[in-house]
Amino acid sequence: MANFRTHIQVASAASGLLAAGMVWAGEVSLSQACLLWLAGSLGGILPDMDSDSSHSLDIVFRLFGALAAILALLFGQQHLSLVDTFVLGAVAYGLVRYPLCWAFAHFTVHRASLHSLLANAVFGLVTVVVADRLFRLGAELAWLTGLFVFLGACIHLLLDELYSIDLEGRRIKKSFGTALKLIEWPAPLPNLLLLALLAGSWWLTPAQPELLARLLPVLHIW
Ligand SMILES: [Zn+2]
Repeated sequence: MANFRTHIQVASAASGLLAAGMVWAGEVSLSQACLLWLAGSLGGILPDMDSDSSHSLDIVFRLFGALAAILALLFGQQHLSLVDTFVLGAVAYGLVRYPLCWAFAHFTVHRASLHSLLANAVFGLVTVVVADRLFRLGAELAWLTGLFVFLGACIHLLLDELYSIDLEGRRIKKSFGTALKLIEWPAPLPNLLLLALLAGSWWLTPAQPELLARLLPVLHIW
């Protein structure tokens, strides 16, 4: 399988190119393109966050910790004093970064359910919901951000699969077929959880019927 460096390099190059194409087509502004580029790069490392000692786990849980701190700050702004808000924010970050991260690493298996197209769809839709409801980016940009996370994560699976083909030796490594899969099988409980998350976040996403029509000119460039 591909290593962390390869994943982040390929995902950021691909999403950077796509985001630049969208700026060129006049679909997004430069600052929006930067956000999409970051989203695509993050997507490129998400599937490996179940690898217990990986950089991906570290980065993803730092990011989740920051999200928890932002939520705490938003809550504190309404109900608490400044000092209490900062304490709550720090506690929220610490809880996500350490105990939750540890529990996650403990209970997940590398390259299992989170290394699948189903999980990628969940990553994408949850991003849409967070971007829309928490950061109020607007329906269209929220959907685009989610789409970039999804694409980045799909590039990750594809890269892992490509790395399992040993081109010089013209043989296929044992890991072939374990990276790019629709769902992990058999794993009823994780898959049910992922399906529930998928349905829940789909229900919370904002409607965006015109997105596809607006994306078509960009796809034409490619
Ligand atoms: Zn991987």
